[in-house]
Amino acid sequence: MKAFDYLKPSNLDALLNASGNIDQAQLGGDRFLAGGTTLIDLMKLQVEYPAKILDITGLPLDKIETTKEGGLKIGAMVRNSDLANHPFVKTQYAALSEAILQGASAQIRNRATTGGNLLQKTRCVYYRDEAFDCNKKKPGSGCPAIEGEHRNLAIMGTSDHCIATNPSDMNVALTALDSKIEIQSPQGTRTVAITEFYKVPGDTPHIETVLQPGEIITYVHVPPLPAGSHSQYLKLRDRASYEFALASAAVVVQMRGSKIQFIRVAMGGIGTKPWRAQEVESMLEGGDADRTAFEKAADKLLSQAKPLKENAFKVELAKRCLVHSLSTATALS
Ligand SMILES: Cc1cc2nc3c(=O)[nH]c(=O)nc-3n(C[C@H](O)[C@H](O)[C@H](O)COP(=O)(O)OP(=O)(O)OC[C@H]3O[C@@H](n4cnc5c(N)ncnc54)[C@H](O)[C@@H]3O)c2cc1C
Repeated sequence: MKAFDYLKPSNLDALLNASGNIDQAQLGGDRFLAGGTTLIDLMKLQVEYPAKILDITGLPLDKIETTKEGGLKIGAMVRNSDLANHPFVKTQYAALSEAILQGASAQIRNRATTGGNLLQKTRCVYYRDEAFDCNKKKPGSGCPAIEGEHRNLAIMGTSDHCIATNPSDMNVALTALDSKIEIQSPQGTRTVAITEFYKVPGDTPHIETVLQPGEIITYVHVPPLPAGSHSQYLKLRDRASYEFALASAAVVVQMRGSKIQFIRVAMGGIGTKPWRAQEVESMLEGGDADRTAFEKAADKLLSQAKPLKENAFKVELAKRCLVHSLSTATALS
């Protein structure tokens, strides 16, 4: 690990005064330190080598609040375990609780934060090994994964420059839940829908989000769900715990009799960003909850997939994941 300066600003203003050199798109730039479960790993691997670390663990961003409209306001420093086990989250936003609890291990979830989870890095082996070229690490250097090891990598939103998957479970649930991300900088506060927050790689895979240099995530806002709706998260992976998703689905559904009144769907493990499935929603909303309709919607969504040799199995896996999720969610709503 390379030597770095360490600073722990006592409040947000002091932090924002010192955060000018933080640019998530540039390796070697300064970094915020939250739980450290991604950042410190990558520093030990010499993939990240910030000159300065700004420790944000002392900031008062560790509250989970319910809003008067019935939604949630989650501080960026809320630990993953606290969010997953919060009684309101467990009952009203089951998909979010289930997604977090199916990620990592209890020890990591105790440490990891909401802001850090939103910005966790891909698990692509070429990204995580400093010896390999990678367009995310060094723009223009190439993507060895395309011809190499890519079994776990993305089939949606890929480009000739990058096929790395966004590995987060929490982000998939937050995407289906129509969440918004509040961001602060010395210029003020702005809020971005999570569907607009992540970027597909295109020819600039090192730019993963719309965050600008110096900006910090302060809160995540989750709107209230329609009365009587049900949400759930299904994760398919090589082993039952401590493993990233090969395919996953977060579904929010409200039924009226046999008809689907309201539906939101996002998928994980298959996309270069948490994958909101709006075409599935518009095909199903207002219609009957029936398996043939689910299969048609899954076929339509996955017809956009661009699988490679080793990850072609994800197309069928993702379809089955989605159809199963839709069948159980509509039956339970
Ligand atoms: C062994 C292992 C297994 C895992 N398995 C899973 C899994 O199955 N599913 C899953 O979803 N995740 C998994 N994870 C990832 C884990 O969820 C993330 O490491 C964690 O959520 C990151 O949070 P953190 O607070 O530790 O982030 P940090 O490591 O502190 O930060 C990560 C990045 O976010 C930036 N950052 C942090 N907070 C902010 C903020 N408020 N504003 C702006 N930038 C910020 C940091 O500068 C850094 O670049 C696993 C991790 C490990 C180590």
